[in-house]
Amino acid sequence: MSATGLTALSSSVPVRPASLPCPAASLTAFRIMCDHYVEVKVQLEQMKSLGEDAEKQGVDTEQVPVSSVSPDPSSITLAGRDASNTSITCKHRGKSHSKSGKDDKNLCGKHISGVSVSTHVGKNLNRLEHEQTLHIKGTGRILQGKSETNGNYVTIHPSKNIQETRREDGYNLARKRKPVTVDSSKAKTSLEALKLSIKQLKWKEFPLGRRTACDIYWHGVSFHDNEHIVSGQVNKFPGMIEMLRKINLSRAVRTMQELFPEEYDFYPRSWILPEEFQQFSTQICMVKENDATVNPTFIVKPDGGSQGDGIYLIRDPSDLKLMAGSQAKQAVVQEYIQKPLLVDKLKFDIRLYVLIKSLEPLEIYIAKEGLTRFCTEPYQEPCQKNLSHVFMHLTNYSLNVHSGNFVHSDSQNTGSKRTLSSVLYRLAAKGVDIKKVWSDIIALVIKTVIAVVPELKVYYQADIPPGKPGPTCFQILGFDILLMKNLKPVLLEVNSNPSMRIEHEQEVAPGVFGYVPSPVDEEVKVGVIRDTLRLMDPRHRKPSISSQLRAGGFEHGEAIPVEGETRERNPDEGGALPSLCLKPVYPKYTKQFNYLRLAERIAALFIRFLGVKGNMRLGPTAFRTFIRTCKLSNSNFTMASVDILYIDITRRWSGAVPDSREAGMGLQAFVEAFFYLAGRRFKSLVLREQVVSLLELCEAQLEAQLGIEDRRSLSCSRALPRAIKTQTLSLNPLLSSPAPLRRAASQDYRLHQRLNPRTLRANVEN
Ligand code: ADP
Repeated sequence: MSATGLTALSSSVPVRPASLPCPAASLTAFRIMCDHYVEVKVQLEQMKSLGEDAEKQGVDTEQVPVSSVSPDPSSITLAGRDASNTSITCKHRGKSHSKSGKDDKNLCGKHISGVSVSTHVGKNLNRLEHEQTLHIKGTGRILQGKSETNGNYVTIHPSKNIQETRREDGYNLARKRKPVTVDSSKAKTSLEALKLSIKQLKWKEFPLGRRTACDIYWHGVSFHDNEHIVSGQVNKFPGMIEMLRKINLSRAVRTMQELFPEEYDFYPRSWILPEEFQQFSTQICMVKENDATVNPTFIVKPDGGSQGDGIYLIRDPSDLKLMAGSQAKQAVVQEYIQKPLLVDKLKFDIRLYVLIKSLEPLEIYIAKEGLTRFCTEPYQEPCQKNLSHVFMHLTNYSLNVHSGNFVHSDSQNTGSKRTLSSVLYRLAAKGVDIKKVWSDIIALVIKTVIAVVPELKVYYQADIPPGKPGPTCFQILGFDILLMKNLKPVLLEVNSNPSMRIEHEQEVAPGVFGYVPSPVDEEVKVGVIRDTLRLMDPRHRKPSISSQLRAGGFEHGEAIPVEGETRERNPDEGGALPSLCLKPVYPKYTKQFNYLRLAERIAALFIRFLGVKGNMRLGPTAFRTFIRTCKLSNSNFTMASVDILYIDITRRWSGAVPDSREAGMGLQAFVEAFFYLAGRRFKSLVLREQVVSLLELCEAQLEAQLGIEDRRSLSCSRALPRAIKTQTLSLNPLLSSPAPLRRAASQDYRLHQRLNPRTLRANVEN
């Protein structure tokens, strides 16, 4: 690794530094921010054409039509709720260490989600004050006030609540349709927010479960919280917890980094411990030898850890607290981002809520409002002396709440936890291009989801095999993102169970900790849950492709519904509820990101050859079948070589994944084998081209095979069960598409390719 390798992340987006004074005073800043509301596009040039659908979907009722994909940074300081109204549930402190219980408990500032701004600026642009109107999305409130142009803050005074009345009217329109039923018996810590959401939607809650099926099942931890669901929708995907553990996420992103190094430079360079300790050591030594002035810092994170538990910083591989043998702890050691963006001299990170509405077709939504969590000790770049200062380096609430400096604030833009919009507002006021920041964040989210989807699909087919009755799934994820000083967003981790608590923990008497209602949590989280439910409303959904397949599937040549052409565009037909606080980003931006979905096509092949339902690993025979069917062996690459390849890769991966119960080749190992095969076959190309070429070859062979099967089935009186025939179609739309379409998809990829040398991953005889 070169020194540039280590600093790659810091040489990114050229943006105006946050610290620069705003050249045209805050009026300009405010206009920048208003621009942001009008439309934030992902700043890839191609995105221009795609904006329209989402605008329609926004169903916004603001005075000025605003916001396509942006959060609403004008969610500014609002008169908070009276703290004396809060009730207190006491309990003694007991910290949960489980990942699933990972918590944002501390929200103390007030939060209003999704505020949009219309500004009435007088003719004289130099006026120091101007009137503005704010409509708080998700609450229906309208506020009016004046912005002060000489500072960072805007003071807003609540005004007549017009939208509220409208909402009430909407509620009064009796819904004649049957209410949607929600089983909340497993909701755990998200129960309170869920209850409020169900109430707002006038749906029917079953807090103790129900003998007959419900439309929606809300689980607090995992898909498996309730094992006997055969229909409806569950708010967790099977395998999501496993996929988002630190090691698995790092592996998934690394695969993408090999294929698309520049597109995936938002994830810090990481090594998996203990297995990659040697590489880590050697690479760091080389970097230091090459350039004595380079003195990187690394952060070590235990694999299953959360809330900052067990995390520490090091400056040298010899400082790693490695233990030998069975004591060896699985962890990720990662390049430490030394120059984060600071606000009030403090490091902070962003918690963003993301909904994966469906895997097939892939549908992603991002919440317009998020949270920011602040450190409690002024930041200094890491040096030997301050390495152990957790209040300076780690933004976790669970740690910082124990610092004497932690500020429980009723305001959204002060204190140790603030709304994302309030921070973006501060940045906009300083002249930062927050459109760019936000579009980079959207790109980061989409790319990360694309990285984890292949393995998720493997889990999905194992738990809910096509052709068997089962529920469909959706899930809210919590993305933790750090902004670098140059405003480039960096992915820290993704939480499969972000806290949906709407209370925060507070010391209510000396030594006694209690849960106190948190209006900020309520605003953000109830909005996210309620709008997730609205999007999942079964009365508004066309059957998904997968459920259609389950019910019989598409025939060859039958048109697949256009993505996004579903009635959820306007989930609240009566207009009774506020506009959605979740914005669609995928498939909206398919054109910009589809070329990245190569690993998914490899996963489709893998699943095709898994065969027996419930399997997650490929046996040696299935691997041979794959090679034969795709005609990948020849006199230079015999079936004996195939067996050696299988054994070599599988053995190494079974060591790398110690908790693997099943024997055989998992998806990650298969991807490695696939890269190797691609490299052998298409030597002159770079890795991405090699992989695309091999994929095309395999898919063409399978298509030919399907053609033969079709002809056979026509000539037989009994055809294969349709569900089996169509299994591959559901997992890889490319396989179901005619050859010209597939070629177009590959060309789409070629437009984005860059030349890069590749390294051989498998040490197998040629
Ligand atoms: P946990 O799941 O235990 O919270 P995280 O990966 O979120 O683990 O890390 C905890 C905190 O450490 C983050 O909130 C962030 O403040 C800090 N952190 C994590 N990774 C990095 C990094 N690569 N560079 C700088 N700070 C980091």
